[in-house]
Amino acid sequence: MADARPAPAVVTPAAGPGGAYKVVIVGTGFSGLGMAIALKKAGAHDFVVLEKADEVGGTWRENTYPGCACDIMSLLYSYSFEPKADWSRMFPRQEELLRYIKDIVGKYELAQHIRFNAEVTGAEYDDATDTWRVTVNDDEAVRGRALVAGMGPLHHPSIPDLPGLSSFAGRTFHSAEWDHSYDLTGKRVAVIGTGASAIQFVPQIAKRVGHLTVFQRTPPWILPKPDRRITGVERTLFRRVPAVQRGYRNGIYLVQESFVLGFKNPRLLKAASSLAKWHLARQVPDRDLRRKLTPGYTMGCKRTLVSSDYYPALMRPNVELSTEAVAEVRERSIVTRDGRAHDVDAIIFGTGFHVTDAFDGAHIVGRNGLKIQDAWKDGIEAHLGVAVAGFPNLFLLLGPNSGLGHNSMIFIIEAQVRYVLQCLAMLDAAGGARISVKPSVQDRFNQWVQRKSEGAVWVAGGCDSWYLDRNGVNRAAWPASTLNFWLRTRRLDPGDFQIERTVPRDETAGSAL
Ligand SMILES: Cc1cc2nc3c(=O)[nH]c(=O)nc-3n(C[C@H](O)[C@H](O)[C@H](O)COP(=O)(O)OP(=O)(O)OC[C@H]3O[C@@H](n4cnc5c(N)ncnc54)[C@H](O)[C@@H]3O)c2cc1C
Repeated sequence: MADARPAPAVVTPAAGPGGAYKVVIVGTGFSGLGMAIALKKAGAHDFVVLEKADEVGGTWRENTYPGCACDIMSLLYSYSFEPKADWSRMFPRQEELLRYIKDIVGKYELAQHIRFNAEVTGAEYDDATDTWRVTVNDDEAVRGRALVAGMGPLHHPSIPDLPGLSSFAGRTFHSAEWDHSYDLTGKRVAVIGTGASAIQFVPQIAKRVGHLTVFQRTPPWILPKPDRRITGVERTLFRRVPAVQRGYRNGIYLVQESFVLGFKNPRLLKAASSLAKWHLARQVPDRDLRRKLTPGYTMGCKRTLVSSDYYPALMRPNVELSTEAVAEVRERSIVTRDGRAHDVDAIIFGTGFHVTDAFDGAHIVGRNGLKIQDAWKDGIEAHLGVAVAGFPNLFLLLGPNSGLGHNSMIFIIEAQVRYVLQCLAMLDAAGGARISVKPSVQDRFNQWVQRKSEGAVWVAGGCDSWYLDRNGVNRAAWPASTLNFWLRTRRLDPGDFQIERTVPRDETAGSAL
Protein backbone atom coordinates (compact mmCIF):
# COMPACT_ATOMS: atom_id res chain seq x y z
CA MET A 1 0.00 0.00 0.00
CA ALA A 2 1.20 3.50 -0.75
CA ASP A 3 2.85 5.51 1.98
CA ALA A 4 0.51 8.38 1.19
CA ARG A 5 -2.17 6.72 3.31
CA PRO A 6 -3.17 9.22 5.99
CA ALA A 7 -2.05 8.45 9.51
CA PRO A 8 -4.36 8.82 12.47
CA ALA A 9 -3.96 12.12 14.26
CA VAL A 10 -3.30 10.44 17.58
CA VAL A 11 -2.12 7.00 18.43
CA THR A 12 -4.60 5.08 20.48
CA PRO A 13 -4.12 1.61 21.84
CA ALA A 14 -5.97 -1.07 19.97
CA ALA A 15 -9.07 -2.62 21.42
CA GLY A 16 -7.33 -5.92 21.95
CA PRO A 17 -6.68 -7.67 25.25
CA GLY A 18 -5.34 -5.23 27.81
CA GLY A 19 -5.36 -2.39 25.25
CA ALA A 20 -2.54 -3.83 23.22
CA TYR A 21 -0.87 -2.15 20.29
CA LYS A 22 -0.57 -4.27 17.20
CA VAL A 23 3.17 -3.72 17.24
CA VAL A 24 5.52 -2.26 19.82
CA ILE A 25 8.83 -1.15 18.35
CA VAL A 26 11.87 -0.35 20.46
CA GLY A 27 14.39 2.23 19.25
CA THR A 28 14.48 5.13 16.82
CA GLY A 29 17.63 4.30 14.89
CA PHE A 30 17.56 3.08 11.31
CA SER A 31 16.08 -0.24 12.49
CA GLY A 32 13.12 0.96 14.56
CA LEU A 33 12.26 3.76 12.17
CA GLY A 34 12.62 1.44 9.17
CA MET A 35 10.10 -0.90 10.78
CA ALA A 36 7.73 1.97 11.54
CA ILE A 37 7.85 3.19 7.95
CA ALA A 38 7.24 -0.31 6.61
CA LEU A 39 4.19 -0.70 8.84
CA LYS A 40 2.78 2.62 7.69
CA LYS A 41 3.39 1.72 4.08
CA ALA A 42 1.47 -1.50 4.69
CA GLY A 43 -1.41 0.52 6.08
CA ALA A 44 -0.82 -0.45 9.71
CA HIS A 45 -0.94 2.54 12.01
CA ASP A 46 -1.55 0.96 15.37
CA PHE A 47 1.99 0.81 16.63
CA VAL A 48 4.14 2.67 19.09
CA VAL A 49 7.87 3.29 19.04
CA LEU A 50 9.51 3.41 22.46
CA GLU A 51 12.73 5.38 22.67
CA LYS A 52 14.75 5.82 25.83
CA ALA A 53 16.33 9.09 24.72
CA ASP A 54 14.58 12.38 24.08
CA GLU A 55 15.38 12.47 20.39
CA VAL A 56 15.47 10.12 17.40
CA GLY A 57 18.65 8.99 15.69
CA GLY A 58 20.17 5.99 17.49
CA THR A 59 23.87 5.66 16.71
CA TRP A 60 23.92 9.04 15.00
CA ARG A 61 22.38 10.82 17.99
CA GLU A 62 24.55 9.10 20.59
CA ASN A 63 27.94 9.39 18.94
CA THR A 64 28.85 13.05 18.83
CA TYR A 65 32.61 12.72 19.27
CA PRO A 66 34.75 15.03 17.14
CA GLY A 67 35.15 13.61 13.64
CA CYS A 68 32.29 11.10 13.95
CA ALA A 69 31.34 9.92 10.47
CA CYS A 70 30.19 6.86 8.62
CA ASP A 71 32.71 4.49 7.03
CA ILE A 72 30.31 3.70 4.22
CA MET A 73 29.59 6.27 1.54
CA SER A 74 26.46 8.36 1.96
CA LEU A 75 24.96 7.25 -1.33
CA LEU A 76 24.86 3.70 0.05
CA TYR A 77 24.43 4.31 3.79
CA SER A 78 20.83 5.49 3.52
CA TYR A 79 17.46 3.83 2.99
CA SER A 80 17.12 2.48 -0.55
CA PHE A 81 13.65 4.01 -0.76
CA GLU A 82 14.78 7.43 0.46
CA PRO A 83 17.68 8.57 -1.71
CA LYS A 84 18.99 11.99 -0.78
CA ALA A 85 20.27 13.88 -3.79
CA ASP A 86 22.06 16.57 -1.83
CA TRP A 87 24.51 14.71 0.40
CA SER A 88 27.34 17.13 1.03
CA ARG A 89 30.16 14.55 1.24
CA MET A 90 31.03 11.09 0.01
CA PHE A 91 31.28 9.91 3.63
CA PRO A 92 28.49 11.45 5.70
CA ARG A 93 29.31 13.03 9.01
CA GLN A 94 27.25 12.45 12.11
CA GLU A 95 25.36 15.75 11.92
CA GLU A 96 24.23 15.13 8.35
CA LEU A 97 23.12 11.57 9.10
CA LEU A 98 21.15 12.78 12.09
CA ARG A 99 19.51 15.44 9.93
CA TYR A 100 18.65 12.77 7.32
CA ILE A 101 17.00 10.64 10.01
CA LYS A 102 15.03 13.59 11.39
CA ASP A 103 13.85 14.53 7.89
CA ILE A 104 12.59 10.98 7.40
CA VAL A 105 10.70 11.12 10.69
CA GLY A 106 9.01 14.29 9.45
CA LYS A 107 8.27 13.00 5.99
CA TYR A 108 6.64 9.80 7.24
CA GLU A 109 4.87 11.56 10.13
CA LEU A 110 6.41 9.20 12.63
CA ALA A 111 6.66 11.64 15.55
CA GLN A 112 3.11 10.95 16.65
CA HIS A 113 3.98 7.27 17.09
CA ILE A 114 7.13 7.83 19.13
CA ARG A 115 7.28 7.95 22.92
CA PHE A 116 10.51 9.53 24.08
CA ASN A 117 12.14 9.02 27.48
CA ALA A 118 10.57 5.57 27.43
CA GLU A 119 13.25 3.03 28.24
CA VAL A 120 12.20 -0.56 27.86
CA THR A 121 13.38 -2.25 31.01
CA GLY A 122 11.79 -5.63 30.45
CA ALA A 123 9.50 -7.63 28.19
CA GLU A 124 7.50 -10.72 29.05
CA TYR A 125 5.32 -12.80 26.79
CA ASP A 126 1.94 -13.26 28.39
CA ASP A 127 0.74 -16.74 27.41
CA ALA A 128 -2.77 -15.99 28.63
CA THR A 129 -3.40 -13.01 26.35
CA ASP A 130 -0.82 -13.69 23.65
CA THR A 131 0.69 -10.27 24.02
CA TRP A 132 4.07 -8.91 24.98
CA ARG A 133 3.99 -7.03 28.24
CA VAL A 134 6.68 -4.41 27.79
CA THR A 135 7.87 -2.62 30.91
CA VAL A 136 8.77 1.02 30.40
CA ASN A 137 10.99 2.90 32.85
CA ASP A 138 10.52 0.04 35.32
CA ASP A 139 7.02 1.15 36.27
CA GLU A 140 4.64 1.16 33.32
CA ALA A 141 3.37 -1.64 31.13
CA VAL A 142 2.72 -1.30 27.42
CA ARG A 143 1.23 -4.26 25.62
CA GLY A 144 1.83 -5.30 22.07
CA ARG A 145 0.73 -8.21 19.99
CA ALA A 146 4.17 -8.19 18.41
CA LEU A 147 7.43 -6.76 19.68
CA VAL A 148 10.15 -5.53 17.35
CA ALA A 149 13.48 -4.87 19.04
CA GLY A 150 15.66 -2.32 17.27
CA MET A 151 17.85 -1.49 20.25
CA GLY A 152 21.03 -1.36 18.23
CA PRO A 153 23.92 -3.77 17.92
CA LEU A 154 26.45 -1.16 19.05
CA HIS A 155 24.69 0.66 21.82
CA HIS A 156 26.13 -0.27 25.23
CA PRO A 157 29.62 1.26 25.62
CA SER A 158 32.25 -1.21 26.73
CA ILE A 159 34.80 0.07 29.22
CA PRO A 160 37.68 -2.23 30.15
CA ASP A 161 38.00 -3.23 33.75
CA LEU A 162 41.42 -1.68 34.30
CA PRO A 163 42.93 -2.17 37.76
CA GLY A 164 42.75 1.06 39.72
CA LEU A 165 40.45 2.87 37.30
CA SER A 166 38.13 4.00 40.08
CA SER A 167 41.05 5.76 41.79
CA PHE A 168 41.71 8.00 38.79
CA ALA A 169 41.15 11.62 39.81
CA GLY A 170 40.90 13.11 36.30
CA ARG A 171 38.06 12.98 33.78
CA THR A 172 37.07 9.76 32.01
CA PHE A 173 34.49 9.15 29.33
CA HIS A 174 33.66 6.80 26.46
CA SER A 175 33.61 7.99 22.85
CA ALA A 176 29.85 7.30 22.66
CA GLU A 177 29.25 9.49 25.69
CA TRP A 178 31.53 12.35 24.76
CA ASP A 179 31.82 14.97 27.46
CA HIS A 180 31.59 18.19 25.46
CA SER A 181 31.70 20.22 28.66
CA TYR A 182 35.28 19.13 29.24
CA ASP A 183 37.77 21.36 27.45
CA LEU A 184 40.64 19.23 26.18
CA THR A 185 42.74 22.24 25.20
CA GLY A 186 46.26 21.86 26.51
CA LYS A 187 45.42 18.74 28.55
CA ARG A 188 47.40 15.51 28.82
CA VAL A 189 45.04 12.97 27.40
CA ALA A 190 45.09 9.19 27.12
CA VAL A 191 43.06 7.40 24.49
CA ILE A 192 42.52 3.71 25.14
CA GLY A 193 41.73 1.72 22.01
CA THR A 194 42.36 2.18 18.32
CA GLY A 195 39.14 1.01 16.71
CA ALA A 196 36.69 2.68 14.34
CA SER A 197 35.75 5.57 16.65
CA ALA A 198 39.24 6.27 18.00
CA ILE A 199 40.80 6.63 14.57
CA GLN A 200 38.17 9.26 13.81
CA PHE A 201 38.51 11.38 16.94
CA VAL A 202 42.28 11.08 17.53
CA PRO A 203 43.14 13.36 14.56
CA GLN A 204 40.59 15.92 15.78
CA ILE A 205 41.72 16.12 19.39
CA ALA A 206 45.43 15.76 18.63
CA LYS A 207 45.41 19.36 17.38
CA ARG A 208 43.99 20.68 20.65
CA VAL A 209 45.47 18.67 23.47
CA GLY A 210 48.80 19.36 25.11
CA HIS A 211 49.91 15.75 24.93
CA LEU A 212 48.15 12.66 23.68
CA THR A 213 49.07 9.06 24.42
CA VAL A 214 47.24 6.50 22.32
CA PHE A 215 47.20 3.06 23.95
CA GLN A 216 47.01 0.40 21.27
CA ARG A 217 46.41 -3.29 21.85
CA THR A 218 46.02 -4.35 18.21
CA PRO A 219 46.66 -2.11 15.21
CA PRO A 220 43.74 -1.89 12.78
CA TRP A 221 44.01 -2.37 9.04
CA ILE A 222 43.43 1.06 7.54
CA LEU A 223 42.67 1.94 3.94
CA PRO A 224 42.83 5.49 2.58
CA LYS A 225 39.49 7.29 2.88
CA PRO A 226 38.43 8.68 -0.49
CA ASP A 227 36.30 11.38 1.10
CA ARG A 228 35.52 14.60 -0.70
CA ARG A 229 32.73 17.08 -1.15
CA ILE A 230 30.05 16.00 -3.60
CA THR A 231 30.08 18.65 -6.28
CA GLY A 232 27.14 20.83 -7.22
CA VAL A 233 27.16 19.26 -10.68
CA GLU A 234 26.84 15.78 -9.20
CA ARG A 235 24.02 16.87 -6.92
CA THR A 236 22.13 18.48 -9.79
CA LEU A 237 22.61 15.30 -11.79
CA PHE A 238 21.34 13.15 -8.90
CA ARG A 239 18.27 15.36 -8.58
CA ARG A 240 17.48 15.49 -12.25
CA VAL A 241 18.47 11.95 -13.23
CA PRO A 242 17.89 9.67 -10.24
CA ALA A 243 19.21 6.73 -12.25
CA VAL A 244 22.69 8.26 -12.02
CA GLN A 245 22.48 8.24 -8.22
CA ARG A 246 21.22 4.66 -8.27
CA GLY A 247 24.18 3.78 -10.50
CA TYR A 248 26.63 5.33 -7.99
CA ARG A 249 24.90 3.50 -5.16
CA ASN A 250 25.03 0.15 -6.92
CA GLY A 251 28.67 0.68 -7.87
CA ILE A 252 29.64 1.46 -4.26
CA TYR A 253 27.64 -1.56 -3.07
CA LEU A 254 29.52 -3.86 -5.46
CA VAL A 255 32.93 -2.53 -4.45
CA GLN A 256 32.09 -3.01 -0.75
CA GLU A 257 30.62 -6.42 -1.43
CA SER A 258 33.75 -7.61 -3.22
CA PHE A 259 35.46 -7.73 0.20
CA VAL A 260 33.31 -10.65 1.24
CA LEU A 261 35.04 -12.96 -1.21
CA GLY A 262 38.26 -12.31 0.65
CA PHE A 263 36.71 -13.04 4.04
CA LYS A 264 36.45 -16.69 3.03
CA ASN A 265 39.62 -16.66 1.03
CA PRO A 266 42.09 -14.12 2.46
CA ARG A 267 44.43 -14.50 -0.52
CA LEU A 268 41.84 -12.51 -2.44
CA LEU A 269 42.33 -9.63 -0.02
CA LYS A 270 45.95 -9.31 -1.10
CA ALA A 271 45.28 -6.25 -3.22
CA ALA A 272 43.45 -4.51 -0.37
CA SER A 273 46.14 -5.42 2.20
CA SER A 274 48.84 -4.19 -0.17
CA LEU A 275 46.96 -0.91 -0.53
CA ALA A 276 46.73 -0.61 3.27
CA LYS A 277 50.46 -1.33 3.65
CA TRP A 278 51.30 1.22 0.95
CA HIS A 279 49.07 3.76 2.72
CA LEU A 280 50.93 3.12 5.99
CA ALA A 281 54.35 3.30 4.37
CA ARG A 282 53.47 6.52 2.57
CA GLN A 283 52.10 8.26 5.65
CA VAL A 284 54.50 6.91 8.29
CA PRO A 285 58.16 7.18 7.27
CA ASP A 286 59.35 6.34 10.81
CA ARG A 287 60.27 2.65 10.69
CA ASP A 288 59.69 1.95 14.38
CA LEU A 289 56.25 3.58 14.42
CA ARG A 290 55.37 1.79 11.19
CA ARG A 291 56.27 -1.55 12.76
CA LYS A 292 53.98 -0.85 15.69
CA LEU A 293 51.16 0.08 13.31
CA THR A 294 51.48 -2.98 11.09
CA PRO A 295 48.71 -5.50 11.81
CA GLY A 296 49.84 -9.05 12.54
CA TYR A 297 46.55 -10.67 11.58
CA THR A 298 44.61 -11.17 8.38
CA MET A 299 42.70 -8.21 7.01
CA GLY A 300 38.95 -8.50 7.67
CA CYS A 301 39.41 -10.34 10.99
CA LYS A 302 38.41 -7.05 12.63
CA ARG A 303 36.46 -4.35 10.84
CA THR A 304 38.72 -2.82 8.18
CA LEU A 305 38.86 0.93 8.70
CA VAL A 306 39.22 3.91 6.42
CA SER A 307 41.12 7.05 7.33
CA SER A 308 43.50 9.45 5.70
CA ASP A 309 44.27 11.54 8.77
CA TYR A 310 44.87 9.01 11.56
CA TYR A 311 48.47 8.10 10.72
CA PRO A 312 49.51 11.77 10.21
CA ALA A 313 48.00 12.55 13.64
CA LEU A 314 50.23 9.91 15.22
CA MET A 315 53.23 11.61 13.63
CA ARG A 316 52.61 14.85 15.51
CA PRO A 317 55.27 15.77 18.10
CA ASN A 318 52.66 15.92 20.89
CA VAL A 319 51.32 12.43 20.16
CA GLU A 320 52.75 9.13 21.34
CA LEU A 321 51.67 5.59 20.49
CA SER A 322 52.05 3.13 23.35
CA THR A 323 51.83 -0.56 22.56
CA GLU A 324 52.55 -1.68 26.11
CA ALA A 325 49.60 -3.21 27.92
CA VAL A 326 48.06 -1.11 30.66
CA ALA A 327 48.98 -2.55 34.05
CA GLU A 328 47.06 -0.15 36.26
CA VAL A 329 45.54 3.28 36.56
CA ARG A 330 46.61 5.55 39.39
CA GLU A 331 45.23 8.84 40.64
CA ARG A 332 46.94 10.89 37.93
CA SER A 333 48.58 8.37 35.62
CA ILE A 334 48.37 5.20 33.60
CA VAL A 335 51.10 2.69 34.30
CA THR A 336 52.05 0.27 31.55
CA ARG A 337 53.51 -3.24 31.98
CA ASP A 338 57.03 -1.92 31.37
CA GLY A 339 56.63 0.09 34.58
CA ARG A 340 56.36 3.47 32.88
CA ALA A 341 53.89 5.97 34.33
CA HIS A 342 52.11 8.18 31.80
CA ASP A 343 50.79 11.29 33.55
CA VAL A 344 47.34 12.19 32.25
CA ASP A 345 44.46 14.57 33.03
CA ALA A 346 41.81 12.65 31.13
CA ILE A 347 41.18 9.16 29.78
CA ILE A 348 38.98 8.67 26.73
CA PHE A 349 37.79 5.16 25.98
CA GLY A 350 37.56 4.26 22.31
CA THR A 351 36.90 0.71 23.32
CA GLY A 352 33.73 -0.11 21.42
CA PHE A 353 30.56 -1.71 22.64
CA HIS A 354 29.13 -4.77 24.33
CA VAL A 355 27.94 -6.92 21.44
CA THR A 356 27.79 -10.64 22.07
CA ASP A 357 27.11 -10.00 25.77
CA ALA A 358 24.71 -7.08 25.27
CA PHE A 359 21.72 -9.18 26.37
CA ASP A 360 23.37 -10.60 29.48
CA GLY A 361 21.35 -8.38 31.79
CA ALA A 362 18.22 -8.07 29.66
CA HIS A 363 14.88 -9.11 31.11
CA ILE A 364 13.20 -10.80 28.15
CA VAL A 365 10.95 -13.72 28.96
CA GLY A 366 9.29 -15.80 26.28
CA ARG A 367 6.77 -18.61 26.38
CA ASN A 368 6.33 -20.59 29.57
CA GLY A 369 8.72 -18.31 31.44
CA LEU A 370 11.71 -18.99 29.17
CA LYS A 371 14.39 -16.39 29.87
CA ILE A 372 16.51 -15.16 26.98
CA GLN A 373 19.66 -16.03 28.98
CA ASP A 374 18.48 -19.65 29.25
CA ALA A 375 17.59 -19.82 25.58
CA TRP A 376 21.06 -18.47 24.84
CA LYS A 377 23.04 -20.35 27.47
CA ASP A 378 25.30 -21.77 24.73
CA GLY A 379 25.60 -18.44 22.94
CA ILE A 380 23.31 -15.90 21.29
CA GLU A 381 21.57 -17.07 18.17
CA ALA A 382 18.48 -16.40 16.12
CA HIS A 383 17.04 -17.35 12.76
CA LEU A 384 18.38 -14.82 10.24
CA GLY A 385 19.21 -12.55 13.17
CA VAL A 386 15.47 -12.00 13.64
CA ALA A 387 13.50 -14.81 15.29
CA VAL A 388 14.30 -16.82 18.41
CA ALA A 389 12.58 -20.13 19.13
CA GLY A 390 10.43 -19.93 22.26
CA PHE A 391 9.83 -16.19 21.84
CA PRO A 392 6.67 -15.87 19.75
CA ASN A 393 5.94 -12.61 17.96
CA LEU A 394 9.33 -11.23 18.96
CA PHE A 395 11.48 -9.92 16.15
CA LEU A 396 15.03 -8.67 16.53
CA LEU A 397 16.56 -6.25 14.06
CA LEU A 398 20.32 -6.61 13.61
CA GLY A 399 20.19 -9.55 16.01
CA PRO A 400 22.86 -12.28 16.27
CA ASN A 401 25.02 -12.92 13.21
CA SER A 402 23.49 -10.20 11.09
CA GLY A 403 26.26 -7.64 11.49
CA LEU A 404 28.56 -6.63 8.65
CA GLY A 405 32.19 -5.67 8.57
CA HIS A 406 32.22 -4.76 4.92
CA ASN A 407 28.97 -3.15 3.81
CA SER A 408 26.06 -0.96 4.90
CA MET A 409 24.08 -2.29 7.84
CA ILE A 410 21.05 -0.52 6.40
CA PHE A 411 20.97 -3.15 3.67
CA ILE A 412 20.50 -5.84 6.34
CA ILE A 413 17.97 -3.75 8.27
CA GLU A 414 15.79 -3.33 5.19
CA ALA A 415 15.93 -7.05 4.43
CA GLN A 416 15.00 -7.92 8.02
CA VAL A 417 12.17 -5.40 8.11
CA ARG A 418 10.68 -6.97 4.97
CA TYR A 419 11.03 -10.38 6.59
CA VAL A 420 9.26 -9.27 9.79
CA LEU A 421 6.46 -7.80 7.73
CA GLN A 422 6.02 -11.15 6.02
CA CYS A 423 5.90 -12.91 9.39
CA LEU A 424 3.17 -10.56 10.57
CA ALA A 425 1.24 -10.99 7.32
CA MET A 426 1.51 -14.78 7.61
CA LEU A 427 0.23 -14.63 11.18
CA ASP A 428 -2.77 -12.61 10.03
CA ALA A 429 -3.48 -14.73 7.02
CA ALA A 430 -3.56 -17.82 9.21
CA GLY A 431 -5.74 -16.09 11.79
CA GLY A 432 -3.15 -16.99 14.38
CA ALA A 433 -2.12 -15.51 17.67
CA ARG A 434 1.50 -16.66 17.79
CA ILE A 435 4.19 -17.09 15.21
CA SER A 436 7.45 -18.73 16.27
CA VAL A 437 10.42 -20.02 14.39
CA LYS A 438 10.74 -23.80 14.65
CA PRO A 439 13.68 -24.82 16.88
CA SER A 440 14.92 -27.24 14.19
CA VAL A 441 15.00 -24.42 11.63
CA GLN A 442 16.91 -22.14 13.96
CA ASP A 443 19.37 -24.96 14.75
CA ARG A 444 19.91 -25.81 11.10
CA PHE A 445 20.46 -22.17 10.23
CA ASN A 446 22.97 -21.64 13.02
CA GLN A 447 24.87 -24.81 12.15
CA TRP A 448 25.19 -23.35 8.67
CA VAL A 449 26.39 -20.01 10.12
CA GLN A 450 29.10 -21.75 12.12
CA ARG A 451 30.12 -23.97 9.22
CA LYS A 452 30.45 -20.88 7.02
CA SER A 453 32.45 -19.14 9.73
CA GLU A 454 34.96 -21.98 10.06
CA GLY A 455 38.19 -21.04 8.39
CA ALA A 456 36.77 -17.60 7.59
CA VAL A 457 38.73 -14.55 8.49
CA TRP A 458 36.73 -13.60 11.64
CA VAL A 459 37.48 -16.92 13.30
CA ALA A 460 40.76 -17.97 11.71
CA GLY A 461 42.25 -14.55 10.99
CA GLY A 462 44.40 -14.46 14.13
CA CYS A 463 42.69 -11.67 16.01
CA ASP A 464 40.23 -11.20 18.83
CA SER A 465 37.27 -9.14 17.67
CA TRP A 466 33.79 -8.11 18.80
CA TYR A 467 32.34 -10.57 16.34
CA LEU A 468 33.38 -13.42 18.65
CA ASP A 469 31.90 -14.42 21.99
CA ARG A 470 33.96 -15.40 25.02
CA ASN A 471 34.35 -18.91 23.55
CA GLY A 472 35.70 -17.59 20.27
CA VAL A 473 32.48 -18.38 18.37
CA ASN A 474 31.29 -15.94 15.72
CA ARG A 475 28.00 -14.56 17.07
CA ALA A 476 27.89 -11.18 15.38
CA ALA A 477 29.10 -11.29 11.78
CA TRP A 478 27.01 -12.44 8.85
CA PRO A 479 29.27 -15.07 7.31
CA ALA A 480 28.28 -14.73 3.66
CA SER A 481 27.42 -12.15 1.04
CA THR A 482 24.65 -9.64 1.58
CA LEU A 483 23.09 -11.02 -1.60
CA ASN A 484 22.83 -14.36 0.20
CA PHE A 485 21.09 -12.60 3.10
CA TRP A 486 18.73 -10.82 0.73
CA LEU A 487 17.83 -14.08 -1.00
CA ARG A 488 17.16 -15.83 2.32
CA THR A 489 14.91 -13.07 3.61
CA ARG A 490 13.21 -12.11 0.35
CA ARG A 491 10.48 -14.71 0.67
CA LEU A 492 9.51 -16.18 3.99
CA ASP A 493 9.38 -19.96 3.93
CA PRO A 494 6.10 -20.70 5.75
CA GLY A 495 7.52 -24.08 6.76
CA ASP A 496 10.13 -22.35 8.93
CA PHE A 497 7.55 -21.06 11.37
CA GLN A 498 4.76 -22.47 13.43
CA ILE A 499 1.53 -20.60 13.92
CA GLU A 500 -0.77 -21.17 16.83
CA ARG A 501 -4.28 -19.96 17.48
CA THR A 502 -4.67 -19.89 21.21
CA VAL A 503 -7.33 -17.28 21.81
CA PRO A 504 -10.51 -16.98 19.76
CA ARG A 505 -9.98 -14.78 16.74
CA ASP A 506 -12.54 -12.16 17.77
CA GLU A 507 -10.74 -11.57 21.05
CA THR A 508 -7.52 -10.57 19.40
CA ALA A 509 -6.79 -7.01 18.40
CA GLY A 510 -7.56 -7.77 14.78
CA SER A 511 -4.85 -8.11 12.19
CA ALA A 512 -1.24 -7.32 12.91
CA LEU A 513 -1.04 -5.43 9.65
C1 LIG B 1 30.40 5.14 15.93
C2 LIG B 1 29.68 4.18 15.02
C3 LIG B 1 29.96 4.17 13.67
C4 LIG B 1 29.29 3.29 12.83
N1 LIG B 1 29.60 3.29 11.51
C5 LIG B 1 28.96 2.46 10.68
C6 LIG B 1 29.27 2.44 9.30
O1 LIG B 1 30.18 3.13 8.86
N2 LIG B 1 28.57 1.60 8.50
C7 LIG B 1 27.58 0.80 8.99
O2 LIG B 1 26.95 0.08 8.21
N3 LIG B 1 27.27 0.80 10.29
C8 LIG B 1 27.94 1.59 11.15
N4 LIG B 1 27.65 1.56 12.48
C9 LIG B 1 26.63 0.63 12.96
C10 LIG B 1 25.30 1.34 13.20
O3 LIG B 1 24.99 1.13 14.53
C11 LIG B 1 24.25 0.76 12.27
O4 LIG B 1 24.61 1.07 10.95
C12 LIG B 1 22.84 1.34 12.48
O5 LIG B 1 22.86 2.71 12.69
C13 LIG B 1 22.12 0.62 13.59
O6 LIG B 1 20.82 1.10 13.67
P1 LIG B 1 19.85 0.54 14.79
O7 LIG B 1 18.59 1.29 14.67
O8 LIG B 1 19.79 -0.93 14.71
O9 LIG B 1 20.57 0.86 16.17
P2 LIG B 1 20.88 2.25 16.83
O10 LIG B 1 21.17 3.27 15.83
O11 LIG B 1 21.90 1.99 17.88
O12 LIG B 1 19.52 2.67 17.53
C14 LIG B 1 19.02 2.00 18.64
C15 LIG B 1 18.02 2.90 19.35
O13 LIG B 1 17.36 2.15 20.36
C16 LIG B 1 17.31 2.92 21.55
N5 LIG B 1 17.27 1.99 22.65
C17 LIG B 1 18.22 1.09 23.00
N6 LIG B 1 17.83 0.39 24.07
C18 LIG B 1 16.60 0.85 24.39
C19 LIG B 1 15.67 0.51 25.40
N7 LIG B 1 15.93 -0.44 26.30
N8 LIG B 1 14.50 1.17 25.46
C20 LIG B 1 14.21 2.14 24.56
N9 LIG B 1 15.07 2.50 23.57
C21 LIG B 1 16.24 1.87 23.49
C22 LIG B 1 18.57 3.75 21.51
O14 LIG B 1 18.47 4.88 22.34
C23 LIG B 1 18.67 4.08 20.04
O15 LIG B 1 17.99 5.26 19.72
C24 LIG B 1 28.32 2.41 13.35
C25 LIG B 1 28.06 2.39 14.72
C26 LIG B 1 28.74 3.26 15.54
C27 LIG B 1 28.45 3.22 17.02
